[in-house]
Amino acid sequence: MRPAILFPLFADIRTLPGVGPKIAPLLERAAGPAVVDVLWHLPTGLVDRRFSPSVADAPEGVVVTLKLQVLGHEPGRTPRLPYRVHCQDESGPIDLVFFRVKGDYLERQLPTGEMCAVSGRVERYREEAQMAHPDHIVPLARFDEIAIVEPVYGLTAGLSPKTVAKAAKAAVAAAPTLPEWADPHLVAQNAWPDWRTAIARAHAPTDQADTALDTPWRSRLAYDELLANQLALALVRAHQKRRKGRTLKGDGRLRQKALAALPFDLTGAQKMALAEILGDMAVSGRMQRLLQGDVGSGKTVVALLAMLNAVECGLQAALMAPTEILARQHFETIKPLAEAAGVRFAVLTGRDKGKTRQTMLDGLASGELDLVVGTHALFEDEVAFRELGLVVVDEQHRFGVHQRVAFSAKGLSEAGEVDTLIMTATPIPRTLVMCAYGDMDVSKLGEKPPGRKPVKTVAVPLERLDDIVEAVRRQIAKGARVYWVCPIVEESEVLDLAAATQRHAALAEALGEARVHLIHGKLKPAQKDAAMAAFVDGPPGVLVATTVIEVGVNVPSATVMVVEHAERFGLAQLHQLRGRVGRGADESSCVLLYAQPLGATAKARIEILRETEDGFRIAEEDLRLRGAGEVLGTKQSGLPQFRLADLAVHADLVEVARSDATVMLERDPKLESERGLALRTLLYLFARDEAFKLARFG
Ligand code: ADP
Ligand code: MG
Repeated sequence: MRPAILFPLFADIRTLPGVGPKIAPLLERAAGPAVVDVLWHLPTGLVDRRFSPSVADAPEGVVVTLKLQVLGHEPGRTPRLPYRVHCQDESGPIDLVFFRVKGDYLERQLPTGEMCAVSGRVERYREEAQMAHPDHIVPLARFDEIAIVEPVYGLTAGLSPKTVAKAAKAAVAAAPTLPEWADPHLVAQNAWPDWRTAIARAHAPTDQADTALDTPWRSRLAYDELLANQLALALVRAHQKRRKGRTLKGDGRLRQKALAALPFDLTGAQKMALAEILGDMAVSGRMQRLLQGDVGSGKTVVALLAMLNAVECGLQAALMAPTEILARQHFETIKPLAEAAGVRFAVLTGRDKGKTRQTMLDGLASGELDLVVGTHALFEDEVAFRELGLVVVDEQHRFGVHQRVAFSAKGLSEAGEVDTLIMTATPIPRTLVMCAYGDMDVSKLGEKPPGRKPVKTVAVPLERLDDIVEAVRRQIAKGARVYWVCPIVEESEVLDLAAATQRHAALAEALGEARVHLIHGKLKPAQKDAAMAAFVDGPPGVLVATTVIEVGVNVPSATVMVVEHAERFGLAQLHQLRGRVGRGADESSCVLLYAQPLGATAKARIEILRETEDGFRIAEEDLRLRGAGEVLGTKQSGLPQFRLADLAVHADLVEVARSDATVMLERDPKLESERGLALRTLLYLFARDEAFKLARFG
């Protein structure tokens, strides 16, 4: 139950002055539906209207507030001509200029002969001073009301700055004093104001520096948001850990057989990660572990060995992939090893229907199948396991904390407490790991398997497309397999992107029908398979693809990656795509085709890619260039949408919030002390965080 003290903050925005039926939807789009959302909608800058020179001294282009006498009105003679209000002060004349004037409101606002205060920017037109559409017009007696520093807010079309400022002011006035949830030492050390003062201060900047993200009040608010997030995650984690798990300590017989069948030794990083995973499985309490590793760092092998550990204990294991192609790919990787180990395994996707499907379902229910690889289809209601011991989710950032908990809860619950291992392919900066995966323990594959050759990366403008097609032709003649990635499927007039279908047709014409294949999200599964098979087993050629292939296909003989409109891709995506090549023994290259002119960010991205293949470094740069929201692919990422914290700026605070949340919960796991109750208030204040909904307390 939300504490009563917060009620005013969760009232509808329509309760704020000036927010009627017309304004409410607009304000809701800009800020959100509740008063608290308006509070979180902080100013991005300010306008200083305190400067009040005479007309003669008013500089051009600067916001000023003038004291004027109205001399007379001159409506435009035609509708296209402006309406002019002639004014003056003791230093000289000035015209207030208005376009598209309807009705007589100007006569009421600026009565002839009266004294007024107006605020806006002065221009000089043929030596004559004028001010077009002043921001504020009031009778002179109310000069002090407008000669102020005014915060600037993010707006949606139709929403005036005045409206938002007024609503924000009222929201601040409605904000109650809340109990202090932060550590008093931390507050004192940073000279942070209390929450209410901080929010009031953030909405009332008096100079530009006041709106910076690192002021004490902005830092305080960022900390509050991060603390709420970390606390919620810690509560989820504590809850998960408290649930009883099994102790899975296999005797190693299956793992030994699989290892013997591997044509290589595990890298040090793989061994370490595996030891961490086996360690979690061996103790009671559920494993909730994240296995982070760059594309091709060898996560699948590690996952398989963990699954075999479960099978050694007489339980089943499942590996879930985000796409059908990937599920089949994992299946192929696992197949020789699973066969060597002598376990019974299958692949199950949405495509399997009828009898095949039923046979598999029966096998899972009876325990005849030890291992299964699949897509979401694995977790549909009719799928029952005899006894599931481990779920591996290869998520590639597609699922967030919410789905993760759902997976391990659903259907698997009858089987008891299932250990969960999440694999992510793009290295994630530490800060983001803590925010998006703070409920999990983390293993990292930082080192790549030996023998990988660096991928030569070049950036080429799209004008040189013909040269690239020629280069591809030469590569194919030498036996290369080439990926050609296009951003969308069908020509869109709006975006004018190269369509994969059209590119396919053009390349087929240039290089020969038989050598150019097409794969995209709208193909039927069987068609996808056929295209993949033709690319992998047919004569050397080109696979034209939408980003379907982004999520992990493994074709070691592919050596060239062409990305068309590389400027439209994020850094992490480009890194992933490049990771598709350079997997075999041959030299590989990556061609980034870009449309001119290249923006500064796109240029920086391409530069970084050319400089390094270190996924962790790329991830950090990505965070810096794009901001946190986008790094993980926003909505699907499971990363909460922070409103006050900016992870690129407040990274340190994430660490502080994490350790504070841990300490506080250790002292008061049920949040019952005075401080604990304050923390509950904090949690409710940020109640829209995804993790929050899963956190159990009280
Ligand atoms: P990821 O899932 O992390 O993208 P994979 O597990 O699919 O990576 O491994 C990529 C490729 O590297 C596979 O072909 C795999 O057989 C190979 N590989 C994995 N571990 C090693 C290793 N220790 N030494 C050499 N090759 C390895
Ligand atoms: Mg893999």
